[in-house]
Amino acid sequence: MRIQCILGMDIGGTNVRAGLVDKENNLYHFRIINTQSIREGVNGKSFVENLSDRMETYIETYESQFEVVGVSVGFPSTIDKSRRVVLSTPNIQGLDNVPIADILEKRLGVPVYVNRDVNMLFYRDLRQFHIDGSCIALGCYIGTGFGNAIYVKGEILLGKNGVAGELGHIPMVGQRGRCGCGNEACIEIRASGRYLESLVAKEFPDVEIGKVFTKYADHPLIEEFIEYLSIPIATEINIFDPDYVVLGGGILQMENFPVDTLEKYIVRHSRKPYPAENLVLLYSEAAQENGVVGAGIYGFAAREQENKDSAYRQKRA
Ligand SMILES: [Zn+2]
Repeated sequence: MRIQCILGMDIGGTNVRAGLVDKENNLYHFRIINTQSIREGVNGKSFVENLSDRMETYIETYESQFEVVGVSVGFPSTIDKSRRVVLSTPNIQGLDNVPIADILEKRLGVPVYVNRDVNMLFYRDLRQFHIDGSCIALGCYIGTGFGNAIYVKGEILLGKNGVAGELGHIPMVGQRGRCGCGNEACIEIRASGRYLESLVAKEFPDVEIGKVFTKYADHPLIEEFIEYLSIPIATEINIFDPDYVVLGGGILQMENFPVDTLEKYIVRHSRKPYPAENLVLLYSEAAQENGVVGAGIYGFAAREQENKDSAYRQKRA
């Protein structure tokens, strides 16, 4: 018998990752391709056409062994509330206002589930840390930008338009410069890998970025950067008084990242005595596969919900 799987995908500005995820979260045939190789214009096609070509080929390749019951894709984008339309994608051309779920369903002939990449990572970590619906949990993933997701009452908060949890874009008084989102003075201007990159180029030209914490963790400018990272995290902690805070992303996973300094500042900026006194901070494991596995988890959960809804509708009819 063929193994029932979701094709999980993690679309990033640099890499696209894919794999088949079964109900027990096992991952098969994990692949990474360069996003450039399917960018807008390659083969005279749009990004979405190139992406669907690759997905179709991938599914066909493993068809004899695996029954793909759905496709679940994380995008580095804002997504509409119905989770069908990619609204805006700053780092990939050809992914603004695209009804992606409809397009892919028509092409692939299976249900397609879409979410923010950060939410996919967070679904994976919620499962990993056995965090259930009785808890409030926050996820902060600091990579090129500052990713965030909020888990309340068993669901990741979507908000009125589907764009809740854009924590990187809280404004900061006295901050200068324009953010990738178009606004002035967002905290992400300082609390992001993008900023760390420019800081290293300007102030620490003697090290490659991967070694900056190993050599300069105690430098005042690096300490200041770590404090910037703590500001949005502590802000959200003070709003939600969460049971768990999951921290991850490429910056935290760099060699010798000063975790103690980050925790010191998170506690310093959290309200006393609570939530500061009994914070539970968890660290997401570094793994290329996390976004794909998370997409698989989300895909199965969304599929189950759909089946329940249609059973309910049939019962009512
Ligand atoms: Zn912004």
